[in-house]
Amino acid sequence: MESGKVTISRAARQADFPARFQLIAAMNPCPCGYLGDKERGCICSQSQIDRYKAKISGPLLDRIDMHVEVSRIPYKELRADHKKIESSIHIQKRVSSARNIQLKRNNGKANAHLNTLEMDQLLNISEKNLILLEKIVSQLKLSARAYHRVLKISRTIADLGHSQQIMQNHLLEALSYRCLDRTT
Ligand SMILES: [Zn+2]
Repeated sequence: MESGKVTISRAARQADFPARFQLIAAMNPCPCGYLGDKERGCICSQSQIDRYKAKISGPLLDRIDMHVEVSRIPYKELRADHKKIESSIHIQKRVSSARNIQLKRNNGKANAHLNTLEMDQLLNISEKNLILLEKIVSQLKLSARAYHRVLKISRTIADLGHSQQIMQNHLLEALSYRCLDRTT
């Protein structure tokens, strides 16, 4: 998942194949599916919810950079004025622009693929914000991997906002995407 390659071993031979992919996964919040729903109550016990969440292993969860809770869309909003909603084409433009900023700054690499040495040289974050991140990571007991992932996500959020430096709000937004870490 992290090396971007898969090794196949057969008898005396072994071969590496490219396997870089982006994992996007979805799950219900609990076995009945209604935990946190404003309109319908959840009927699961806490132990059922804990057992259900424990099905995803910690190491796998640690490698998923962004955990986003998506609530039910109220019926009225399904019929909302589409002019008020940002179009996919507009979003695509914002994403392409942020990606181009990354490739230019990182010598052709996306933020996700930076190593720790490159991160030190290219991320552009103040000492004060780094200390803040270290403090929060230690309070939430996040892993060293999560620390590096949060930094890269912060860099991408800053790129989306065309900000040269990673500011505190970029950092806090990136940390908010690790919500499943904090409950397990
Ligand atoms: Zn439930």
